[in-house]
Amino acid sequence: MTRPLQAIINLDAILSNYRYAKTLAGGAVVAVIKANGYGHGLTNVGKFLTPHVDALAVATLEEAVELRAANVTTRLLVLEGVFDAEALDTAIQLNLDLVVHSDYQVALLEQYQQGTINTALNIWLKIDTGMGRLGFCPRRAAEQYKKLYALSVVKSVTLTSHFACADEPARQENVFQLSAFDAAARSVQQAHNDLCDSQSETTLVPQSIANSAAIIALPAARRQWSRAGIMLYGSDPVVRSADSSVDKHSLACTMTLQSGLIAVRSAAKGESIGYGADFRFAQDGRYGIVACGYGDGYPRHAGTGTPVMVGGVRTCLIGRVSMDMLAVDLSCVPEAAVGTDVELWGPGIPVSEVADCAGTIPYELFTGLTQRVPRVY
Ligand SMILES: *Cc1c(COP(=O)(O)O)cnc(C)c1O
Repeated sequence: MTRPLQAIINLDAILSNYRYAKTLAGGAVVAVIKANGYGHGLTNVGKFLTPHVDALAVATLEEAVELRAANVTTRLLVLEGVFDAEALDTAIQLNLDLVVHSDYQVALLEQYQQGTINTALNIWLKIDTGMGRLGFCPRRAAEQYKKLYALSVVKSVTLTSHFACADEPARQENVFQLSAFDAAARSVQQAHNDLCDSQSETTLVPQSIANSAAIIALPAARRQWSRAGIMLYGSDPVVRSADSSVDKHSLACTMTLQSGLIAVRSAAKGESIGYGADFRFAQDGRYGIVACGYGDGYPRHAGTGTPVMVGGVRTCLIGRVSMDMLAVDLSCVPEAAVGTDVELWGPGIPVSEVADCAGTIPYELFTGLTQRVPRVY
């Protein structure tokens, strides 16, 4: 018998979440599949989504190369851009969309000697409106736009930025970032209009600022393009008040982390379980050992009480998570036996509940799932 642990991926659910993102966002939506498709499998997710999406995005050139090698032909955005001339060559050969966030990246494009390949790139000019990570100061946006617009290797320029606090929609920082973005967009549009003076019609410079949280909770941030990541994988990143009336069922569950019991044991009152003898039974009880541990990406910081579904019954983890195994209380699941199904997260146990118990976020649990866990589609 093979080890029962597997991640069951529902690609149709990812597509349905993408379509939901489209209805909210209004405009075009980039499906963000970086970090191995948020753990769901880079090429499987990328190939499946290709006929249905406006564009895909990854963080790194390496991820983009892998997708192109798998015949993913759609628009494909590299969110960190390229770091040297060789990488730029690759990006041009593979017809990638590139973020440009720094002077050295503008210089790489300026120095590019157009070779035999006659392709021009879609560039996403990134400005830092308050995230403090990547991007030009908003005051320099128009100047960078003019430089890029003049290059034959540049086909189009989309103005882009990223929110720091979109998951908390009431934060003032969101208002400040949006107004900084709008001011930069006005100056870029003005520069664009000046450059196009001779033509009778000027076009709009496309804009993109919303991630999943902003698509869901900051309608003012919806522009020609939005970028949906975590919501594609069924997780709503918005921090909500307890009385929130938002429909939680609009997003479909995309991954079930499923395993089984590989041992069932009884414990006498006072007996301890696992490393550190952290957990002790307060009375006689019964427990099971599940084939899943932090070596698979299950969070080690999920403590006693973290919910787990055994044979369709909600129970909880007890003691410390080991590398390859964890223990679950079976006092309330008398019918559980070796081989009984265990759901670590999925439709019965929202990944956000496990993340809360471990002091982390669904993003980290999804992306942390290791290679050892077979993905079943
Ligand atoms: C990862 C990422 C996204 C997607 O964010 P989610 O919160 O997962 O929707 C969007 N834009 C950029 C620049 C990113 O790095």
